[in-house]
Amino acid sequence: MTSFSNTGNFQERGSYFTAGESVNLNNCDKEPIHIPGSIQPHGVLIGFSAEGEVLYKSANLEDFFGETVSLQRECHLREIIGEEAAAVVIEKRKNSGGKKYFPLEISQKDGTVQLFDAQLHLHNAVYILELEPVKGKGTAVDLDYFNESMQHLQEAVSPEELANIVAQKIRQLTGFGRVMVYRFNEDGSGVVFAEEKEEDMDPFLGLWYPATDIPQQARKLYLQNPLRIIPDVHYTPSEIKSVPENGPERPSPDLSFASLRSVSPIHIQYLKNMEVGASMSVSIIQKNRLWGLIACHHPVARHISYPYRQLCELLARAFAMVLGEKEEALQWQYSQQVQEVKKALFQNISKAENFTDGLHNGTPTVMDLIRCGGCVVSFGEGYTSLGITPPKEEVLALIDWLQKNIQEEVFSSRELPDLYPEGEKFSDTGSGILAIAISQVQKEYIIWFRPEVVHTVTWAGRQEKNIVEAGDEQLSPRNSFEAWAELVRNKSEKWLAVELEAAKDLRGLIVDIVLRMSGQLKLRADILSRLNEEMNSSKSEMDSFAYIASHDLKEPVRGIQTYASFVLEDYGAVLDEEGKAKLKTLIRLSSRTQQLVDSLLQFSRMGRMELNPSDTDLNALLPDVVDIFRPRFTTERISLEIQNGVWPTVSCDELRISEVFMNLISNAIKYNSKEEKRITIGFRRAGEDEKSPSGYVFFVQDNGIGINPKFHKEIFTIFRRLNARDAYGGGTGAGLTITKKIIERHGGRIWLNSELDRGSCFYFTF
Ligand code: ADP
Repeated sequence: MTSFSNTGNFQERGSYFTAGESVNLNNCDKEPIHIPGSIQPHGVLIGFSAEGEVLYKSANLEDFFGETVSLQRECHLREIIGEEAAAVVIEKRKNSGGKKYFPLEISQKDGTVQLFDAQLHLHNAVYILELEPVKGKGTAVDLDYFNESMQHLQEAVSPEELANIVAQKIRQLTGFGRVMVYRFNEDGSGVVFAEEKEEDMDPFLGLWYPATDIPQQARKLYLQNPLRIIPDVHYTPSEIKSVPENGPERPSPDLSFASLRSVSPIHIQYLKNMEVGASMSVSIIQKNRLWGLIACHHPVARHISYPYRQLCELLARAFAMVLGEKEEALQWQYSQQVQEVKKALFQNISKAENFTDGLHNGTPTVMDLIRCGGCVVSFGEGYTSLGITPPKEEVLALIDWLQKNIQEEVFSSRELPDLYPEGEKFSDTGSGILAIAISQVQKEYIIWFRPEVVHTVTWAGRQEKNIVEAGDEQLSPRNSFEAWAELVRNKSEKWLAVELEAAKDLRGLIVDIVLRMSGQLKLRADILSRLNEEMNSSKSEMDSFAYIASHDLKEPVRGIQTYASFVLEDYGAVLDEEGKAKLKTLIRLSSRTQQLVDSLLQFSRMGRMELNPSDTDLNALLPDVVDIFRPRFTTERISLEIQNGVWPTVSCDELRISEVFMNLISNAIKYNSKEEKRITIGFRRAGEDEKSPSGYVFFVQDNGIGINPKFHKEIFTIFRRLNARDAYGGGTGAGLTITKKIIERHGGRIWLNSELDRGSCFYFTF
């Protein structure tokens, strides 16, 4: 049991335990604390029927009202508290509603009048009247204090500050030596979240407690009865007796809602172990859920009058309300932050020549996207780790396991070792993982790691000097911590919906980029850089193409296509229409890429370009080409216009002519530093001297950086580049050479109209 709960007094006559069986931390969940059969003696309890007939009384009644009241026979309430007071109580009884509090003056036998704080409630057809004597004329509640406290609470900037303020206010109000705000976690465990105390007391701030510290039935009572007080832990319980005393035995009344309810001896022992003399706890209830407790301790007996207790209850309610607002604001702030980082990261990735560099080279990095200890990006041969992650060999083994066992594209777990026992080896850094699979087949993963929760908690409370040495070892905070730590072993903090969403978006973006690259850019860059090397070693251009296409490109491209087809087959049913459409585009584009690779291979094998002409409807061809660039339209602010409405059908090698358009559009985007990149594709009838087999002149026009006319010829020479190697996304300078060759093989020609800073327009015929 906890040091903070005031629960009921277990008696062995209950149906849950046999005599002699002791209540311990494991079975105290079953202790019937709501039917303790006794009360604390700082007040008296009288149970009566609707007619005012007394059914129960606490044994200490005589201490307050003298021996003259005989309870050997049936009796009426008025015989104990007098005519006038009884009339007030009976009147209150008539009002509907829950528990009632009212001051009650009762004339004593000696003629004096004693003021009581009275509480009345109805439970299981018994009216329960509790009377606590008030010193003198009682105390008035200071509402100004409440107002001022409210204002301070609202000014707090964080939940921690808020909790500190409420602890401070309650300590000022009640004079308790120690006031703690205790917060429950989802698993039922709890932590001392804020603390106000006398200077010479040991701090409990940061101490963690397992869920077993506060048994289930106590939590239920806390929701029903938001404030419990034990003014003196050394009290002798006052038994509740049936009236008349020698009449038929009635079942012990249910005291769930009674403030005087006696407390479990286990709990009392716990408090004594901690040298606590008086204790009070107030529930913090948020959205009908027990968020936590405000727990107050004092080294010696201390009573708080009912009006002040009510004020504490009000403060706890105000705290819960303001806390809700603050938590929502913080959550919103965090999700905003995730969105911002996501935006910046997306820009880095889109700009980077190699998108994996964009993930970890700039600021922010992929690790900043999600709150974590560390992050790994593993793409083929490339492996990069950021922050604190498990050793590389462990991560690679984990990736193997993910590949074989996890089908989800976005997978998360806050207790990995439960699913993957080898994960226990690195639970300190990676009890929790959030993984996205870019390609399961190629084992391309990004994984965020979260450390074990025990490693992230405050350990202040653990230091030996802070541990209260208890006679009963089982009921000491130290044991509580150890038990708690055991329970949260191999668990991390949980992943939030906003984080899973961000990971999913990142995955979507990367898949788009991979597609685009496999469709065009990567293909070309890879081919051309290899080509460059091959050319340098004086092999023929055709041989180089053959080598690269057959060995390096065919397999990965086929992999993409097969993988995408599998996804469509296996998960078609769970995808929405948009998802299916994207997948189909993926399959279509990768099959195009495959054809391209195949045709390059063919082309090189024959040692000369052999065209495969057919009647090609350009109205069908162009949208396919444009689709390849579409994922970049928004992120890079590209507007692409296809002019002329209906395009002609012309005889050409469809794949090659697509490649011509792709090359020119890709250059139009690449060599462009305008905010909004405008590209226009169009055609017109060819003039007689324009050498066009189809009878048309086609063009791709841009508003980019333009080309100085003195280089107009040179740019068609292989490996000729006008800009620095890495400027404008870099390239190998072979694109236009290939374009020109394709066009010339079609009997056409290519030329341009361009000046520096004035955009370019490439014309071609075929
Ligand atoms: P790369 O593969 O490097 O882009 P290309 O053969 O396609 O090579 O182009 C050769 C050079 O011509 C480029 O390096 C660039 O300097 C210039 N260039 C090509 N297209 C454009 C354009 N639309 N606007 C400005 N410069 C261009």
